[in-house]
Amino acid sequence: MPPDQNQLFQPTEKLVSWGRVVRAPHRLAKPGHPDELAPLIESLTPEEPGLAIGLRRSYGDSNLNPNGAVIDMTGLDAMIAFDRDSGLMRAEAGVSLSQCLQVLVPSGWFLPTTPGSRFVTLGGAVANDVHGKNHHSAGTFGASVTRLGLRRSDSEPQTLERGDPLFHATIGGLGLTGVIEWVEFQAVRIPSAYLDAEDISFANVNDYFELMKERGASFEHTMAWIDCLAGGDQLGRGVLSLANWSEKGGLKPHREDPRLAVPFNAPGFALNTASVKAFNTAYNALKKTREGASHPHYEPFLYPLDSIANWNRMYGSKGFFQYQSVIPPDAAQDVTVDMLQAIAASGQGSFLAVIKTFGSAEPVGLLSFPMEGVTLALDFPNKGETTQNLMRRLDDIVTAAGGRLYPAKDGRISAETFKAGYPQWEGFNQFVDPVLSSGFWRRVTQ
Ligand SMILES: Cc1cc2nc3c(=O)[nH]c(=O)nc-3n(C[C@H](O)[C@H](O)[C@H](O)COP(=O)(O)OP(=O)(O)OC[C@H]3O[C@@H](n4cnc5c(N)ncnc54)[C@H](O)[C@@H]3O)c2cc1C
Repeated sequence: MPPDQNQLFQPTEKLVSWGRVVRAPHRLAKPGHPDELAPLIESLTPEEPGLAIGLRRSYGDSNLNPNGAVIDMTGLDAMIAFDRDSGLMRAEAGVSLSQCLQVLVPSGWFLPTTPGSRFVTLGGAVANDVHGKNHHSAGTFGASVTRLGLRRSDSEPQTLERGDPLFHATIGGLGLTGVIEWVEFQAVRIPSAYLDAEDISFANVNDYFELMKERGASFEHTMAWIDCLAGGDQLGRGVLSLANWSEKGGLKPHREDPRLAVPFNAPGFALNTASVKAFNTAYNALKKTREGASHPHYEPFLYPLDSIANWNRMYGSKGFFQYQSVIPPDAAQDVTVDMLQAIAASGQGSFLAVIKTFGSAEPVGLLSFPMEGVTLALDFPNKGETTQNLMRRLDDIVTAAGGRLYPAKDGRISAETFKAGYPQWEGFNQFVDPVLSSGFWRRVTQ
């Protein structure tokens, strides 16, 4: 007899992900030791599947299993091994990137790549094959993973290595190929915890493409912030940040505590079109005054939003959507202009809009999001059908250009849009553990 799921998982009234749009009751278990995983997995069935989750920094429903069971992995947070000479680190899947940095940085090592939040677990980093500002030079997080420990319902615990098909299905596999118990990855050397950075304003999005052609390849970290509400000659104006690790400054890690907090849901009017426009204009002006060289610590440079705890509450109780696309290189410039025109015309401001050029590294994961091209990441406050209509319009532009959307950010795309962007999904499907599922997966494979 399999263990009783109702006894092992406790009901929680509602679980939300980072965008706060998708909320649903779940049954939750939080193991504190790897031995507790076996009975939890044994209690899951294809009719009542479960999902392992991390720090819930994914925005939509790829980390939710509405009305079903979730295994919160953040209690499995032991650092297993770190070799200061080789930079090889092995840790349980619930260890956060922030915790890894506290160990790595003082010894002159860093994460091979990092998303824009350090409050992400190793399991989450692998399952979404996350990327950072250095994708063009380092590829994705999965490129640095040497081995991982996986538990499935149909086999004994396994150690997977590069070359094993299940390894490549698990990298970027959205938590569906098994529960990742531990991760081993290769860190990279840094001469200091600081960067030599440069900020350059550009008048419109076409200038971004020119600047990247001229300057991009000389820098390890590149990304640009753009103003989505400016139209006409200023369409996609913004600021490009470029940086390389600095030789100077020492190896001090970041402070753990966020300095500011949003304590409750800001009222809905806090982020209306006028305030987004004012913010974008002010931010553009501020960045212009700082234009030029700087020497930031990695924390404000790589993790600007982590200094404000719960910044996602700024969008009010209705939450917000994050929309992240990637467009192949040949079409990237024209299609980015089309997307920005559609957004500017809709008048629906994106508070945070980021553009980044991905490099040509072969994806490590079967279902990895990054591919060579240009990625645009946009936040849209949830205004119901108006916002859905804008995003559907953008979906059509992305799909027609041969692009795709990032499941980690999504809570709404149709099965048709997903399958067009990831034609390999059927090959991936054979690796899915039948007792694992998510709201996202049920929606896009129906
Ligand atoms: C401010 C901010 C900036 C961000 N910037 C970037 C960025 O630059 N680049 C980028 O790629 N992403 C970015 N993200 C998204 C984030 O990196 C990913 O969503 C990441 O996967 C979240 O990890 P998590 O620990 O919160 O996992 P969750 O969000 O809880 O889960 C993510 C996925 O991992 C699976 N999972 C988690 N743990 C396990 C496990 N132990 N075993 C099996 N599956 C597991 C879940 O099932 C789910 O499919 C950003 C997010 C935020 C909030």
